Amino acid sequence: MKKYVLAIDQGTTSSRAILFNKKGEPVRIARRDIKTSFPKPGWVEESATDIWVSVVESITELVEKAHIHYNEIDSIGITNQRETTVVWDKESGAPVYPAIVWQSRQTASLCDKRNSKSDFIFSRTGLRLNPYFSASKIRFILDHIPNGQKRAEKGELLFGTVETWLIYKLTNGRNHLTDVTNASRTMLFNIKTRKWDKDLLKIWNIPSCMLPKICPTAHDFGDATYLKHDIPITGVAGDQQAALFGQTCFAKGESKNTYGTGCFMLMNIGDKPILSKHGLLTTVAWEIDGKVTYALEASVFMGGATIQWLRDGLEIIKSTPESETLAKKVKDTDGVYLVPAFVGLGTPYWDNDVRAAFFGLTRGTTKEHIARASLEAVAYQISDSLRVMQNETKIKLKALNVDGGASANNFLMQFQSDILGCAVKLPVCVETTALGAAYMAGLQTGFFKSLNEISKYHRYQKIYQPKMNKNLVSEKLHGWDLAVKSARSFKPHLK
Ligand code: ADP
Repeated sequence: MKKYVLAIDQGTTSSRAILFNKKGEPVRIARRDIKTSFPKPGWVEESATDIWVSVVESITELVEKAHIHYNEIDSIGITNQRETTVVWDKESGAPVYPAIVWQSRQTASLCDKRNSKSDFIFSRTGLRLNPYFSASKIRFILDHIPNGQKRAEKGELLFGTVETWLIYKLTNGRNHLTDVTNASRTMLFNIKTRKWDKDLLKIWNIPSCMLPKICPTAHDFGDATYLKHDIPITGVAGDQQAALFGQTCFAKGESKNTYGTGCFMLMNIGDKPILSKHGLLTTVAWEIDGKVTYALEASVFMGGATIQWLRDGLEIIKSTPESETLAKKVKDTDGVYLVPAFVGLGTPYWDNDVRAAFFGLTRGTTKEHIARASLEAVAYQISDSLRVMQNETKIKLKALNVDGGASANNFLMQFQSDILGCAVKLPVCVETTALGAAYMAGLQTGFFKSLNEISKYHRYQKIYQPKMNKNLVSEKLHGWDLAVKSARSFKPHLK
């Protein structure tokens, strides 16, 4: 009797294995942390072998501790940190270079060299020319190993983002596959034809023989024969797309925001890609039963990390939840704004040169005001992104589904609802990323019957409704706009 779907959630800082039951409830979880190295300023790398081992160890621990048999597991869903790039030897299966992590800036100059192509690249991929995406990372690896280009052209090397690497290892090297959502983050994938794009491959000089085959998100990716019992891998999606699915944002216009280190907001835009004029990325959300759904995505660099800075940088709080206690001790920020541009600003500004700034400080400013202004800043950034999304799609948001570490902060969620003027909904199961992958896998096998069935399982632990007076909201947003403008005009570090 098949009782569970196993979700593998391979993230930047940890790998997790989670068992979900027939009602989409998490019943057991195991995790392993992953070591990240920073070999030079701006470089971020991980060992692809460590990533693989961490996944195997978490699955093994999960099954042992849950006292279940492998044959009770119906299928496997994989969700993963996106864009992180692995290249390995086809013959030995050994990585030829460390995995270059999505955050890494080590390929910035490779992108700069292709600046004249940025509009063309955007028109084909929906992505901004930026070191985040995989293409420049593959180029970098081929340039940094002996005879890299030649070996790739001879078909001796394989490329994969993390899901491809895991499928390859789990199927004992039989299958070299990716899914549409991960492919759409490589900068080599044509978002309209949904195929690898010859012109893009040419721009990066990447041989097509090293690329995996692109599959739908719910699909038979092969049996995980590496495990003690062969279990089919039937669902695969990048982490943010999986979270959108796990939040059951199945209808056009439905959106979710994940409040992690950064914030990633995705809106389901239906079956046609929209190319944004104002800094949003276009991405494939999923492909199921031959139907493709697209999403618009906003990236905010400093989400929960702003609160980490209060704890580790300013040291005005001992734990991140304490930010809520402090914020609630004052009735407002007393006119204080923080623009948390510690690493520049993402959507909709995409300004790498702006620095963080406080505005409106007086002798009366206390750490309570600072904490409150910091939490409000997270919400303002989401509001900026949403304003752009609503303008471009002409869709007015009814509710924002939320998850991620900082969604536990009641003050932040209430303020978010106030500023957006819509409901903010926190689900019972906050493991939405893993849940999304499990849903996709289970839909493919029939473990879950339909999107309708899944939607019925989705329950909320809390729904925040807007309470703030509309004039006050406008006043606050006006203050925020002025603060961002002022911060962006302060660039003495630029000669
Ligand atoms: P990631 O997946 O990016 O590692 P998580 O979803 O685990 O992130 O969330 C961690 C982030 O959430 C941290 O930046 C932390 O500062 C923030 N965070 C966690 N709990 C709270 C809280 N109660 N209030 C505000 N921020 C919080």
